[in-house]
Amino acid sequence: MPLEQTEAIVLRTFNVGELDKIVVVFSRDKGIIKGIAKGARKFGSRFGSSLEPMSQVKIFYYEKERKDLVTVSNCDLIESFFEIQNDVNTSFTLSYFSEIIEEFFPSRSKDDLLYRLMLTTLQALKAGGNLDFVARYFEAWFLKINGVLPNLTKCKKCRKVLTKSGWLSPKKDGAFCDSCASQKKEKIKPELALFLQWIKKNPPPEKGDLPFPPKQLESARKILQEIIIFHLEKEPKTLHYLG
Ligand SMILES: [Zn+2]
Repeated sequence: MPLEQTEAIVLRTFNVGELDKIVVVFSRDKGIIKGIAKGARKFGSRFGSSLEPMSQVKIFYYEKERKDLVTVSNCDLIESFFEIQNDVNTSFTLSYFSEIIEEFFPSRSKDDLLYRLMLTTLQALKAGGNLDFVARYFEAWFLKINGVLPNLTKCKKCRKVLTKSGWLSPKKDGAFCDSCASQKKEKIKPELALFLQWIKKNPPPEKGDLPFPPKQLESARKILQEIIIFHLEKEPKTLHYLG
């Protein structure tokens, strides 16, 4: 069994047996990996604080044939994001990101873009970035990377530009104008188009001035989450805590 290694972000862990932990990470090279860290709960364990959720780590593991679970032999901490999780809203938001990554991405499907998105999101929050703004940034890019962000600037039927407002139809994978919309439930405000243009050219904002007041993005939150829920075919469990 050769020793494998990859850079990863710890999504979550849970206890198993008396002293062990199961670790779920999103890795740069191999996507989601689940592994067992033997003795991780022992006092003074060699894993130290490297298995805390959201830690960026270098993980070393052995893979056994025909087994879903790898054996984690070592884990070196690259960067900790432990402190930002003292804020309960940040902590829930990050659990929500972890949940949708795990739900959308099948095991071992590599996605470097998503890995970088998760990492820059964590770094922006650590640098004092506004939680609501950064969360919308993550959701919009997450949908883009998955190829399920519809064009929200033009009516899907008559192609008219939606300057004032439009209506989302996740089922029809698009937005519709006042005359073409068959269902008027989720209203798309013009700020969303500006926001989606802005994120294409900019990293997630750290401390300082935001290009839009986060309040303006309140309607964007509903739209983006509606699309996530549609594709997941259920509401993420963690979203419940974010109200
Ligand atoms: Zn139309």
